[in-house]
Amino acid sequence: MTSTLRSFYLAIIRKTESKGLQLPAAVSFFFRTKYNQPSAMKQYLFILLALFVFASCEKGEFLPDDNFTEEASSPSEETDTDGENSITLYTVDGNDIRLLRDYNVPSGLKAYQDDKGRHDEIWDFVTRVIPLEARGNIAEFIIFYGNQETDGFVEPINPDDLSRWRFGLAIDAAEDLTRIDFSNYFTHLVLHEYAHVMTLNNGQINVGGSEESCPQFFTGEGCSKPGSYINRFYELGWADIYEDHNFNQPERTYDRYPDRFVSDYAATNPGEDIAEVFGYFVTQGQRPTGESIADKKIQLLYEFPELVALRETIRGNADPNGLQPGSFGKMKSLRALSR
Ligand SMILES: [Zn+2]
Repeated sequence: MTSTLRSFYLAIIRKTESKGLQLPAAVSFFFRTKYNQPSAMKQYLFILLALFVFASCEKGEFLPDDNFTEEASSPSEETDTDGENSITLYTVDGNDIRLLRDYNVPSGLKAYQDDKGRHDEIWDFVTRVIPLEARGNIAEFIIFYGNQETDGFVEPINPDDLSRWRFGLAIDAAEDLTRIDFSNYFTHLVLHEYAHVMTLNNGQINVGGSEESCPQFFTGEGCSKPGSYINRFYELGWADIYEDHNFNQPERTYDRYPDRFVSDYAATNPGEDIAEVFGYFVTQGQRPTGESIADKKIQLLYEFPELVALRETIRGNADPNGLQPGSFGKMKSLRALSR
């Protein structure tokens, strides 16, 4: 019997009214839990993303995406408990996508599935934000229905091969796609999900192994290379608190070390943290100069020339109006509010 280790990254958004934020399905390292947000977070869009790692003795036993398998096609298996509904899967070929399969969907989602033009628009948006040369590890694109619980995820197509990733976006999370605006949630979502692929691909991580056998940070997919983005990041802001970090209570880590994180969601785990920081790194106009670990995390990404070049390219892709000072103010103010 072999052990199957899978990772599943979710992006979850809550558009809050006045009751604060709640994350109903944050799952980290083997356990599901609740991740309640401070009530002071009201009135803002907030990105809530969860890392799922499933260990199973029988392949497919706990997998969240059983409906990717050909034999699992009954309607009841098309909807999982996380509110994720796979709609259409595409193969990625450069800037183009080709239909791979339409999933069986509930009748209420048929219109989403039939709207292939919208699928194209969403993929086109990704290609406009992230340059082609930086997308080599994205091999599949999946449109799903997030039901305002899950807005995006990435996962290796085969957990034993970190060179090819599936990139998923919720069709009901996409809003105005005509311009790339850094104050727009969906833009931040694309950057965040892309950052997972950028930091967890085979150039960064040696697949497999175990936490015990990994001298560097073990991501779940494998052992990070010594000079990898996520290992450098871990050494800077996680190594000294990692033993004390409870994956079921990330808010506890955030409350103890608020100066270490750009958002409270970033305290979920190092993988979500670096994805959040990448979003800040790209969208903030200036390199931070502060001494907090949160600032140092952003500064760390400036040490990699290829990331600085990527940042410039992405910023060049954005609508100039989306780069106006203060356009990222909502995201920034979250941090102040949640202290
Ligand atoms: Zn994430």
